[in-house]
Amino acid sequence: MKAHDGMYIGGEWRPAAGPDRIEVVNPADERVIAGVPAGTAEDVDAAVRAARAAFPGWAATPPAERAALIGALRDVLVARKGEIAETVTAELGSPLGFAEAVHVGAPIAVASSYAELAASYTFEERLGNSTVFLEPVGVVGAITPWNYPLHQVVAKVAPALAAGCTVVLKPAEDTPLTAQLFAEAVHEAGIPAGVFNLVTGTGPVAGQALAEHEGVDLVSFTGSTAVGRKIGAIAGAAVKRVALELGGKSANVILPGADLAKAVAAGVGHVMNNTGQSCNALTRMLVHRDQYEEAVALAAAAVAKYPSGDPREPGTRLGPVVNAGQRDRVRGYIAKGVEEGARLVAGGPDAPHERGYFVAPTVFADVTPDMTIAQEEIFGPVLAILSYEDEDDALRIANGTVYGLGGAVWAADTETAVAFARRMDTGQVDINGGRFNVLAPFGGYKQSGVGRELGPHGLGEYLQTKSLQF
Ligand code: NAD
Repeated sequence: MKAHDGMYIGGEWRPAAGPDRIEVVNPADERVIAGVPAGTAEDVDAAVRAARAAFPGWAATPPAERAALIGALRDVLVARKGEIAETVTAELGSPLGFAEAVHVGAPIAVASSYAELAASYTFEERLGNSTVFLEPVGVVGAITPWNYPLHQVVAKVAPALAAGCTVVLKPAEDTPLTAQLFAEAVHEAGIPAGVFNLVTGTGPVAGQALAEHEGVDLVSFTGSTAVGRKIGAIAGAAVKRVALELGGKSANVILPGADLAKAVAAGVGHVMNNTGQSCNALTRMLVHRDQYEEAVALAAAAVAKYPSGDPREPGTRLGPVVNAGQRDRVRGYIAKGVEEGARLVAGGPDAPHERGYFVAPTVFADVTPDMTIAQEEIFGPVLAILSYEDEDDALRIANGTVYGLGGAVWAADTETAVAFARRMDTGQVDINGGRFNVLAPFGGYKQSGVGRELGPHGLGEYLQTKSLQF
């Protein structure tokens, strides 16, 4: 696959400071498809300097002009949709149809929303005898994971640019090629030099250097809770702003009276999409004990529609997980589920194919809330079905993890579902199959994170206030 042998800094591709490289592997066949430079603190420093230099000009650019350039960026993403989807499939293993519809479709929708928001947002307000100005925070250090290689980037860069901030991006090691395509799109859209910069590299070297750099005013991180804690500590010590979008263990609560078949099928689909590698995946299904066995049978039937296969083949709905480490980790969790006494209804720890980082789509029944597979984020195609006695019991189980990112409630009517959702300790809840909304704030309660992404709330993360009294 096509790859740049350099970093995108100050509007051009520059050679990396050091000799280290990262190999990009296709998880479907384990072949090396490209290599990119592994950046050092020196590359990060050059990128932060470029972003600093570009900041005053970009912050002073009228919002309508920033909006037009974000719109131009969206148009380039639309024009290069096919190429981006193929790249996501090659480096992440996402089935091509899902890559086109979601991996590219969602960021295009997000970029569109910020093209509109940049133009319409009120960057000043009157409060009594004061005028409050909402000003850009400065230089943003964005650190992204591999699970949605383009969406995670656009969910940070588009609002940062709309706010008037400049950005240095350090994308995940596994998916740097999509990030390079994004940098090309920024260039093609005519966004001024230095406003967006890209440094590929490893987390502990380039990522850490970016989080620690004193020229970075805000670190926006998405990834594991373990690394999020470290980044939070670095930001805390330097008193710089930080946004953390971390893991989840979201509950799909099916209340008596809901359309059980629809709720179970949608719940299984939500976990199997992206091979279970979504931070808000509804990995715990909660069913009333009277309907439990019926739900388990429905889930077994639903998961049979997700056989894993070559993500490039049309019709494949489940690809591999991203790398060998994730495959081993997920299969380890499945073995742990069996060991702790959960009942395997589908799948299991064995490899479904000889080559590629595949995990069998797996459903567990008889899962109790204290089991490891009911508490920890697995990040693979693994669903745990739990039973509850009554609504209070369901709520206790739903809220009984350290996480609080997503969730879903199914009930006979909207009011019942909303009443339950209001008692859940989580940042987002889909009511009776409610669809993902790019304008709704996305982020976590509890250890799922700090701050919100997307829509006007996401834009607010990149702004700081200045009040003038008259
Ligand atoms: P990770 O947290 O290690 O990596 C995320 C990003 O942080 C990558 O760009 C990485 O290079 C960078 N990073 C790693 N160490 C760093 C450091 N010390 N300083 C600065 N940056 C650093 O996540 P991962 O290894 O890719 O995945 C591990 C687990 O994280 C997954 O199994 C899953 O549970 C979770 N995860 C969550 C999300 C999410 O959207 N919430 C996304 C991906 C992974």
